[in-house]
Amino acid sequence: MAPSGSGSIKRSCQRVLYWIPVVFITIIVAWSYYAYVVQLCIESVENIGEKIVCLLAYHLFFFMFTWAYWQTIFTKPMNPLKEFHLSYADKELLEREDRGESQQEILRRIAKDLPIYTRTMSGAIRYCDRCQLVKPDRCHHCSVCDKCILKMDHHCPWVNNCVGFSNYKFFMLFLLYSLMYCLFIAATDLQYFIKFWTNGLPDTQAKFHIMFLFFAASMFSVSLSSLFGYHCWLVGKNRSTLEAFRAPAFRHGADKNGFSLGFSKNFRQVFGDEKKYWPLPIFSSQGDGCSFPTCLVNQDPEQPSTPAGYNPSTKSAGETHQFPAKPLRESQSRLLNSGQSWSEAEGADDKDKRGTSNPAMTIENET
Ligand SMILES: [Zn+2]
Ligand SMILES: [Zn+2]
Repeated sequence: MAPSGSGSIKRSCQRVLYWIPVVFITIIVAWSYYAYVVQLCIESVENIGEKIVCLLAYHLFFFMFTWAYWQTIFTKPMNPLKEFHLSYADKELLEREDRGESQQEILRRIAKDLPIYTRTMSGAIRYCDRCQLVKPDRCHHCSVCDKCILKMDHHCPWVNNCVGFSNYKFFMLFLLYSLMYCLFIAATDLQYFIKFWTNGLPDTQAKFHIMFLFFAASMFSVSLSSLFGYHCWLVGKNRSTLEAFRAPAFRHGADKNGFSLGFSKNFRQVFGDEKKYWPLPIFSSQGDGCSFPTCLVNQDPEQPSTPAGYNPSTKSAGETHQFPAKPLRESQSRLLNSGQSWSEAEGADDKDKRGTSNPAMTIENET
């Protein structure tokens, strides 16, 4: 249905308002540039060698930071491929059915040929009513963008964009370079900041820029380091922010480590195989965003053992066979914590236990 006149005006106003945080960051960065380059380096630093080194290093951090920020803001989030969308006939069929079970039957038939391993918490096929598509693994509907976003991490107001498969690497580099930018400013500004309090600076307006620059840089450093640290942990565990809050559900139940392949492979899934691209905000992530290798791939008898679109060359030969049919962590937790077998709250990293699964427990769990 076409949006009404007042509805589209409201949406246009919202779209403008969403840019406010980006404009706010841009103003702060522009001011920090003026304060550091003009007021600190040119006006206050007396040693010519220090001046040149500070200006060169500053511009390197500034360039990398703005490049990564630009890429995070302006890289369009990727949406599911055409094959995940329902055909016209299927849409009609689905609309005609009003019972949940019959609708699930139709969706199950459609999903059979798709590389899908995750389900809803109740075990149903994940379907987006708004986009009328079967959601690929790790894909979620963003209410702000009003679209299904591949490997959605979160909708970030500071970049006015969805952070997902297409720009997660850029977002990580944006956090890294903005942190380095702030730390560099704070470190080089520190001695002048101390001079400010000991009356060692001439009484010009530069001294106030120097003082605020240090406050702003150290304040942002604290918040950025915790955010960057958290996302490093997520990359290492191969989880999105959404998955960290709610573990993805597979046919056998929720598994927060379902997509984890070990630190190195998890890292390469985001940053790619070529080391030269790791520090650059150039797309180098592995895969197509619609299907992801999972250590639980053998658990799903209804799905092909290798997802379509997933390049097996990124995975060492026979890797899918090194995992048991059902990881012990699931069986154990079920035995140890009866009643909360699939809950998020099970033990920490239990990657090591995978190789020792007990087949008897596997059978018991599948009934
Ligand atoms: Zn959707
Ligand atoms: Zn969004």
